[in-house]
Amino acid sequence: MNDQTRIRCPKCGTAQTGVIDSRENADHTVVRRRRKCPVCGEKFTTYERYSPKTFKEN
Ligand SMILES: [Zn+2]
Repeated sequence: MNDQTRIRCPKCGTAQTGVIDSRENADHTVVRRRRKCPVCGEKFTTYERYSPKTFKEN
């Protein structure tokens, strides 16, 4: 349901950061999220990258 990974604020450490904008690149392999901390007001950006490799379970 929730596709927003919990990221802690690099400044104050709270996990209650909010996403203010998210964008994918052209082939949808990288998602960039702009986040803002509601506690201290710090703004930062995270990148989520799809891995082309699959994990084998054996
Ligand atoms: Zn903060």
